[in-house]
Amino acid sequence: MQLSCNKIYVYLYLQMGIIRHTKYVKVLVEVFNKKHQAISVADLVRKLEGKMNKTTVYRILDKLMEDGIVHSFIGKDGLKWYAKCDDCSHTTHNDNHPHFQCKQCGEVMCMPMDLNLPASNNYKVDFVNTLMVGECPKCSLK
Ligand SMILES: [Zn+2]
Ligand SMILES: [Zn+2]
Ligand SMILES: [Zn+2]
Repeated sequence: MQLSCNKIYVYLYLQMGIIRHTKYVKVLVEVFNKKHQAISVADLVRKLEGKMNKTTVYRILDKLMEDGIVHSFIGKDGLKWYAKCDDCSHTTHNDNHPHFQCKQCGEVMCMPMDLNLPASNNYKVDFVNTLMVGECPKCSLK
């Protein structure tokens, strides 16, 4: 009797967990949809403070990466950044574009361009992580 009661509670708890999780996933996806530039983990955690804790943010980001919704890269100060994917799926990421970080305003964005890499014999390249640092059009035209 006692046992089956516990089971129901565990079941309810899990169900509630899933529902809450889905809600959080939506909140995060909305942040990415609204902002077209990349967002650093630190900014995301700050932005969502009070709505969800750091661990939840990290867990959902991992899931979104797995699903081909966002990709990550390392910025100027070794910070991790995330940006929306264009044409990825849960099996493959095609985000081999460079990223640009503005040293004036700090904004980071995806650069939709192909890089011509010098051919390297016998080296099979899976992905390229290129960070360009400089001034964005907004700042350089000031
Ligand atoms: Zn991707
Ligand atoms: Zn700028
Ligand atoms: Zn990108």
